[in-house]
Amino acid sequence: MHPVNAIATEYPLATRIAGVREKTTVGLGGASIGVGITVIAGPCAVDSREDLCTTAELVRRSGAHALRGGAFKPRTSPYAFQGLGAEGLRYLAEAREQTGLPVVTEVMDTRDVAAVTEIADVLQIGARNMQNFAMLREVGRTALPVLLKRGLAATVNEFLLAAEYIMAEGNPNVILCERGIRSVDNGCRFTLDVGIIPVLKERSHLPVIADPSHAAGDVRRVIPLALAAVAVGADGIIVETHHDPVRSRCDSAQALPVSLLPDLMRGLQMIEQARSEAQPAHSPMVAAL
Ligand code: PEP
Ligand code: MN
Repeated sequence: MHPVNAIATEYPLATRIAGVREKTTVGLGGASIGVGITVIAGPCAVDSREDLCTTAELVRRSGAHALRGGAFKPRTSPYAFQGLGAEGLRYLAEAREQTGLPVVTEVMDTRDVAAVTEIADVLQIGARNMQNFAMLREVGRTALPVLLKRGLAATVNEFLLAAEYIMAEGNPNVILCERGIRSVDNGCRFTLDVGIIPVLKERSHLPVIADPSHAAGDVRRVIPLALAAVAVGADGIIVETHHDPVRSRCDSAQALPVSLLPDLMRGLQMIEQARSEAQPAHSPMVAAL
């Protein structure tokens, strides 16, 4: 047996089966993740009603497909801003109402799954919760798509087994997200593991997106990393953006000014175009492997 297939049997639902189950798509409002390039954009955290609604309107005008924003924030320090919680969820619902954009937001605690499910269009599982198995099972019992972030030091197998936990509960709509791992210091906050993107696509049929923001840690690196992720086959990105980054209460150094979002979107389209013209996977020789 090909070694890839030997590994893949550990996650029967997430595994890609050549010629049978090559690639699935996950619905997101009027768009589908896995068809073209999907852009999810918004602040790290819901800072305030006004800030969220201002950014959300500009995200909508940029042509992005969905709004991100955390009401519940996983913070390294217990003294840092932890998010607005239930109040933040209400502002997200308002922003969706105003813009029509579907909302992607994080759930951090199994006790909050019901409340977050009421307003979210996609549930985000953060990197630090990738192996919170109770949480994976809980979101697996909902009917919402789940954006699963790779853990800071998770192997490919651990990542796909985490997806399998969600799917095994009956929820097939999982989106994998590479967001940077711990590695030798490359000057970034985390190392965006672009290499895992084609590996995930070889092994799984699930859509794969990248988060350039948390890997970059600095706004100057966000666009290059986003372009790199799409160049290697990502189906889209989730990017932190803000109408006034210095006001951002969380991760302000990596917040892309929302005025630059249309440029990023154009760049991603150009890379996707180049990718589809040059993609070696379309050659009969590579497809046969
Ligand atoms: C986030 O998306 O704001 C976040 C906290 O991401 P991660 O879990 O990847 O650190
Ligand atoms: Mn963040």
